[in-house]
Formats: sequence, structure tokens, C-alpha cells
Amino acid sequence: MTGPALVLLMLVLAGVGLLVGSFLNVVIHRVPDGQSVVRPRSRCPQCSTPIAARDNVPVVSWLVLRGRCRSCAARIAIRYPLVELATMLVWLVMGAWALATGQLALLPLLLVLGSAGVALVVIDLDHHRLPNAIVLPLYPVTLIGLALAGLLSGEWPIVPALIGALAWLLVVGLPWLVSGGRGMGMGDVKLAPVLGATLGWVALASAIVGLLAGFILGAIVGIALMAIGRAGRRTALAFGPFLLIGALIGLLAGQPLASAYQSWLAG
Ligand SMILES: [Zn+2]
Repeated sequence: MTGPALVLLMLVLAGVGLLVGSFLNVVIHRVPDGQSVVRPRSRCPQCSTPIAARDNVPVVSWLVLRGRCRSCAARIAIRYPLVELATMLVWLVMGAWALATGQLALLPLLLVLGSAGVALVVIDLDHHRLPNAIVLPLYPVTLIGLALAGLLSGEWPIVPALIGALAWLLVVGLPWLVSGGRGMGMGDVKLAPVLGATLGWVALASAIVGLLAGFILGAIVGIALMAIGRAGRRTALAFGPFLLIGALIGLLAGQPLASAYQSWLAG
């Protein structure tokens, strides 16, 4: 891809990522309560004034309004522009990864999973659960996304994808079974095979590194929270964010780490 085309692609990814992030704010706000994400239009939670289109421009409106509602001046949490920026960043990172590795065929699925991931991280931190309304549709979405990638690239790494899905299911599912659902939530178990299958499709190393990264991160944060007295041994930690960030690490670092390890072994 030439310079101008590359810049254009990144600009499109950033712009659409921001818009999707704006929609994710609605998802994060409504899906845990079982509300529709389509209707009604967004309103100020304080004064119920519908939010005009010009006040709904991702990040920019929040800055222009200095984080306050135009009608009643109630504070609008900084989380809204942060979710939009995080989604933009995820879109840019996925685009850059797909370009760098030549796996553009996988980009549509990665963008969907990355966007769902942003919503799931925030919802899990808020509510300590991963709603079925988001997690379950990821199964058909992943099947379609992988099939699309196979058709576009002509490569069908189905066996590593299955092994990845199974590995994630077992490693996340066993602690769930053993702890009686206290450590890990059922939502984590349902989400795991989707992430494992997609990473396995990329490379088995990516699935393994992602799984390890998720658990290591979870352990580090869990111990750190206990050390500063913010969590007891029995405090339930939302585990979804660790699985999702682990999956991102697996995607980005899996193959480079695996080849570094192999050349070290060959030493
Ligand atoms: Zn208001």
C-alpha cells in the first residue's frame, strides 16, 4: 500500500472508530439494563433534553461543551470521550497490525471483536458481568469473520483455531468449575472460545500467549489490589478485561514472541 492510501486508510479507521465508540457509549449505558440501543435517542440523564446532532460529535462536542450538558450544565463524565478515544485506538491498532502482517482479510472480524471488547471491558468493570446480548452474537460473527478471512486469503487454519478455542475454554472454564463461579464468571467462559478461535486462526502461539498474558495480568492486578488493601482474598475481580487485554497482547505479541523463543532454543 502506498503512502497516501495508507494515510487515507488510517484516517478512515480513526474516524469510523470514533463513531463506533460513540455508539458503544450507548451500548455500555443501555445493554446491561436490557434497553434498546436504537430507541429512544440519547438524552441528558439529568434534564432529559434530547442530545442534538451537533452536540453528539465524538470527543469534539465534549471538549466544546467542556464536559457539560448544553441545557442544564450537568457534568458529562469524561468516560464518554475516553470510550470514543479507546475505540479509535483499537481500530488504529487493528488496522496497523493487519497491514504489518499482511492479514487484511481478518481485519473486519478484528474490528468487530475489538469494538465489542471495549464495551465488554467497561460493562464488566461496572457490573461484574459480560451480557449475553453482546457475547452470544460474537459466535456467529466470529464464524462469518473467519470464513470471510478464509475466502479472501485462501488459507483455512481451522485446526489451530479449534485448538485455540478449546484451550481458552478449558483454561478459563476449569477455574470457573472449581471455584463454583466465584473467581471466573460464566460470561468469561462464554467469551473465551471466541477469543481463542480468532487468535488460533492467526497462530497457535498467539492463542497461547494471549491466554498466559490474561492470567498473568489478572494475577498481578489482583495481588496489587490486595497489597494496597483494595481487595480481600475473596473479592471477585472482573476477569473479562484481563481476558480481552490478554487477547490483544496475544494478537500483537504472539508470533514475535514465539519466533524469538524458537531462535533462542535453536541458540
Ligand atoms: Zn442536561
